[in-house]
Amino acid sequence: MAGIRRLRNVKIVATLGPSSSDYDTIRALFEAGADVFRLNMSHGTHEEQAARHAIIRKVEQDVGRPIAILADLQGPKLRVGTFRNGEEELTEGQKFRFDLDPAEGDATRVCLPHPEIFAALKPGATLLVNDGKIRLKVEACGPDFADCVVTTGGVISNRKGVNVPDVVLPLAALSDKDRADLEFACELGVDWLALSFVQRPEDVAEARELARGRAAILSKIEKPAAVKAFDQILAVSDGIMVARGDLGVELPVHSVPPIQKQLVRKARSAAKPVIVATQMLESMIDSPMPTRAEVSDVATAIYEGADAVMLSAESAAGKYPIEAVTTMDSVARSVEADPIYREEIEASRHIRRETVADGIVAAAREIAEATDIHAICCFTQSGTTASLVARERPAVPIIALTPVVATLRRLCLTWGVHCVRSPEVERFKMAVVQAARAAREYEFATEKDQIVVTAGVPFNVTGTTNILRVAPCDERLIFRTDPE
Ligand code: ATP
Ligand code: MG
Ligand code: MG
Repeated sequence: MAGIRRLRNVKIVATLGPSSSDYDTIRALFEAGADVFRLNMSHGTHEEQAARHAIIRKVEQDVGRPIAILADLQGPKLRVGTFRNGEEELTEGQKFRFDLDPAEGDATRVCLPHPEIFAALKPGATLLVNDGKIRLKVEACGPDFADCVVTTGGVISNRKGVNVPDVVLPLAALSDKDRADLEFACELGVDWLALSFVQRPEDVAEARELARGRAAILSKIEKPAAVKAFDQILAVSDGIMVARGDLGVELPVHSVPPIQKQLVRKARSAAKPVIVATQMLESMIDSPMPTRAEVSDVATAIYEGADAVMLSAESAAGKYPIEAVTTMDSVARSVEADPIYREEIEASRHIRRETVADGIVAAAREIAEATDIHAICCFTQSGTTASLVARERPAVPIIALTPVVATLRRLCLTWGVHCVRSPEVERFKMAVVQAARAAREYEFATEKDQIVVTAGVPFNVTGTTNILRVAPCDERLIFRTDPE
């Protein structure tokens, strides 16, 4: 039986939560198209996260395909406490109090366990809840409370995020909770760590030091400061998330689309994966059908060349997690089949090629696209070569082969990369045999077809890509045509 392969290039990240924590649902999410699972450290206990992690690894083993796990660290995000009824409806004009009392909230008050907010608030300031969906105006405040009037109503529920755009708060990049969560996630064995509210490249360096190579580091861009310092932050990060929820609250919401375009383009130029996130199919939390606008939003991110699109509450806490993944998968296939998609992807190929590896992958793409080549197969240790091939956004499938499990999993986030575990190979001829087998097994090619293989000799040293070979998929021919 042929192994599972995706019929699209863009990847899908699905957040796990109460709606998606058992084996059957997580497996169904994978089969519907989720390539990466996100564990949001803002919600739930370590035991719950560990249980989800174990299930993902079990699914990975059962389906025989690598799956990436991304642990999202809360960062200095302000959140309300919990409610006796789980949620309350706030209506415009009503009064509502935030305070430091840890007791569960009700229709009149809730805990906001951040004394530094109360210290900085002034009457007249605006408080935004749940990515800005609910707005309140401060009427009176003290060191341990703020009495507000609701100016835009909505449902407020447990641990929803709060933003105070009018107030500058002194915030450290990683809280004590983040440090504990980071260590926990690395011990558990996650592939990516997402850092929330990154503001400076130093924030990334701090996390990288704590992670000690156990996970790759993805910076969430959701602060104006991060947009300003984006080039420096990108340089020290392994990946980027355009975290539009908080970004659209911290900055005017209409400034988000141009920022998204710019960040996607820059991340691609740097050959680092970029995720577009938040509210992509928001209405599917409660409805099996997305809005036309949401479908367009997902499509736009794909046309822009994002590596991945993400589901948050839709898969974590919604009623239709599997339908949401299926919708993203269908949108992706529809967009990628559009000839205009190829045109746009090619028009936005802004690459400064400087190294031998850059040249080899560019040549691999050109040969593959100009002739009847069925896949570009690259041997990679750290994943860098596969990322360079992905940056070219070739019209031909990319197969990344590596014996390094961590690399295999991390690459699940990268555009178009089909990851295959390969044994250690000593000789280039054996690499070609492995590549041809993978291309046939996953039905990218038959025995009659040809593939391009790139690798670095000597093997098993990072950063040495120096060979490009056009090879047949028929193993007898590989041996007959081998130059050595
Ligand atoms: P972030 O700012 O990191 O995106 P968030 O609160 O917006 O944090 P998301 O993961 O984007 O979280 O959205 C998921 C929503 O699903 C949350 O707002 C929350 O209401 C709900 N949820 C409840 N439990 C969980 C969980 N264990 N993991 C993720 N989401 C959860
Ligand atoms: Mg956020
Ligand atoms: Mg969110």
